[in-house]
Amino acid sequence: PTAIEAVDLIKDYGRGENTVHALRGVNVRFERGRFTAIMGPSGSGKSTLMHTLAGLDSATGGHIMFNGGDITAMNDNQLTLLRRKKIGFIFQSFNLLPMFTAEQNILMPLTLAGDKPDRAWFRQLVHTLGLEQRLGHRPNELSGGQQQRVAIARALISKPSLVFADEPTGNLDSVSSAEVLEFLKRSVKELNQTIIMVTHDAVAASYADRAIVFADGRIVADEANPTAEVMN
Ligand code: ADP
Ligand code: ADP
Repeated sequence: PTAIEAVDLIKDYGRGENTVHALRGVNVRFERGRFTAIMGPSGSGKSTLMHTLAGLDSATGGHIMFNGGDITAMNDNQLTLLRRKKIGFIFQSFNLLPMFTAEQNILMPLTLAGDKPDRAWFRQLVHTLGLEQRLGHRPNELSGGQQQRVAIARALISKPSLVFADEPTGNLDSVSSAEVLEFLKRSVKELNQTIIMVTHDAVAASYADRAIVFADGRIVADEANPTAEVMN
């Protein structure tokens, strides 16, 4: 089944002769249970696609079908709610809150939404990500890889069906990168999630089921990865 789909998606920044055509009519469908890498040169529209799909940036034209509706027709309050309940974000820079412990950071989306944590799920995430011994530490007491694993736990604590990862291994060494990517690859299958990951790194992309290449606001290649194991 389709998780999210862009139909003739257009995004312009600015007006008149200064208009930047960041997305020039993108048609793409992302399936449930699949891990997709988005690659392409700097400025080709990767972040714009991700932000528009996530409803963080409004589209100039076209449609985005997600969760049974067209999110380009939603207002900001509806979009904020949808993001909180259904979408997880993982960033290159981790974006952890420095004053809070790892545990508090992981639970922050639920705290903000006033939702009660599912303790069993919390423990499972913490265990799978190897964070049991780090829960009381603040971000500056953690390595880069540990910080990113905390950020991943935070992204997954609400069990979102859709996860966006923006250069998630951009600040990690190769060992930590491999750990993070292995986890995402496993999580996508176990939770039947959809992960859309922007990356410059061909090694990172090799963990994905599919690679989409952008150039100048358009998809110029879209390939299944025959070496990524597809379980269902
Ligand atoms: P990528 O993620 O592939 O590096 P982006 O989506 O960030 O590409 O950018 C696509 C194009 O849109 C680039 O020309 C960029 O300069 C432009 N752009 C991105 N964000 C903005 C913005 N907020 N205002 C104006 N132009 C922008
Ligand atoms: P609020 O306005 O209540 O803070 P937001 O819409 O800003 O809610 O945030 C909802 C979700 O979107 C959060 O999970 C947050 O991590 C994510 N988010 C917010 N701003 C950005 C951004 N600039 N880029 C990517 N994700 C973001």
